[in-house]
Amino acid sequence: MFTTTTTSSTLIGVEGRRVSVEVHLSNGLPAFAMVGLVDTAVREAKDRVRAAVISSGLEWPQRRLTVNVAPSELRKTGSSLDLAIAVGVLAITEQVPVEAAERWSFLGELGLDGQVRPMQGLVPLVHALSDSDLVVPDTGLALAQPVHRGGRLEVVRTLSDVVEALNGRMPWPDPTPLSAPHSPAQHPDMADVVGQPQARLACEVAAAGGHHLLLLGPPGAGKTMLARRLAGLLPDLAPDDALEATLIHSAAGLPLPQGLLRRPPLRSPHHSASLVGLVGGGSSALRPGEISMAHRGVLFLDEMGEFSPSVLDSLRQPLEEGQIGVSRQRGSYDYPARFLLVSAMNPCPCGEAGRPGSCRCSDAARFRYSRRLSGPLLDRFDLRVMVPRPHPDVLIDPPRAEPTAAIAERVAAARGRSAERGVRCTAELTADQLEQCSRITPEAEHLLHAQLRCGALSARGLSRVKRVALTLADLAGPQPLLDVERVGLALSLRADAKRLLSGAGG
Ligand SMILES: [Zn+2]
Repeated sequence: MFTTTTTSSTLIGVEGRRVSVEVHLSNGLPAFAMVGLVDTAVREAKDRVRAAVISSGLEWPQRRLTVNVAPSELRKTGSSLDLAIAVGVLAITEQVPVEAAERWSFLGELGLDGQVRPMQGLVPLVHALSDSDLVVPDTGLALAQPVHRGGRLEVVRTLSDVVEALNGRMPWPDPTPLSAPHSPAQHPDMADVVGQPQARLACEVAAAGGHHLLLLGPPGAGKTMLARRLAGLLPDLAPDDALEATLIHSAAGLPLPQGLLRRPPLRSPHHSASLVGLVGGGSSALRPGEISMAHRGVLFLDEMGEFSPSVLDSLRQPLEEGQIGVSRQRGSYDYPARFLLVSAMNPCPCGEAGRPGSCRCSDAARFRYSRRLSGPLLDRFDLRVMVPRPHPDVLIDPPRAEPTAAIAERVAAARGRSAERGVRCTAELTADQLEQCSRITPEAEHLLHAQLRCGALSARGLSRVKRVALTLADLAGPQPLLDVERVGLALSLRADAKRLLSGAGG
């Protein structure tokens, strides 16, 4: 019995793991067995590999073939192993040199005609083999290059390309020249938002401090416009964050730019989204959900009151821990999910609760609506602002509003101050760090105590108000002073949402 071993990788959640593909050839009736905890897609590799070998004019062994994919305790999924299996079979039947087959790593799905194609999750799969001499599908080169660090990286279009190159009969194919990168898409600009000084400020503070934001207001007030522009205020992703976000987007099969993702992603799932669609998972192939695709970016829930309570409840773990555990039959997996949550919501089912005499909802209907949002979830929003409909005069002769670029500059400066404290933004500071790096004036302290005494603020709310006040200070300049003006402003950006929703604040 003979054995050869080739190298490839498989996708576990959003990470690639290196695997060894051992091909055994023994005497006996022709057969092809696949062992080593493989899923249906890997098992189907048998048919793809065999068809690709034969249609490439190569020889298929008329003996007993066994393919073992190791380590055996790791569940192997998908079609990424096809090329490594094919090369292993060709090596053991002396159609390519064993030494060459064992030196390179291979990633690629095989078509029945011998074409080598990229597959979902190529970026994490390459990342797992980033120090190897690696062969990837030609069309996957743009995705592979940024995460492949050492060794050689070659591309192929067909199985024959691999055979010719490993035998030294032909050089590795030249990659197809990359098309010019798209000019960056025009993102919606804050200059388009008319009026709404408080909501605009809330967006700026949310972006600078990483504070979750709830926008409450009637339909047509511009809540969605504001939320969609917030992602544009965030700075470019730092290299490590860019890599994390890119791995997730690749594993989810989302389109990627050339190179790593540079801009924080914005995901806005519809309120009819399923629990699996939102948090990830799935019965056959595990897939990251919307909250993971929003990792290091913005998760925007429009019409938050229409999401099912179970879906909203599932946000609590990621908001707390920055990840979400997804379990299925064989073990569980933690997907990264650290996002800025921006939600928009009508104050009542008909949306008119802010205007006296306009709401058509019954008290019971408004009560039910307000109960959709659990207290613990509401508590996560450091910023809760009302967004009224703009005054008609403002719409007729709109004043020129400040554009995204100018606001983003202040946001970047504020985040720079957080970076000096060793965090990305004030939301990441621990309570102790918050006390150490800021100074509160006696007047501001007095104002907060008055709020505590009258029950308008909880102990937890107190620390959140201080945090927002620090972000306001960071936006203003290098003095982290929590004075009465900033603390007052932070309080005004934290409307009593329960009261607004139940109508008492109408
Ligand atoms: Zn109403």
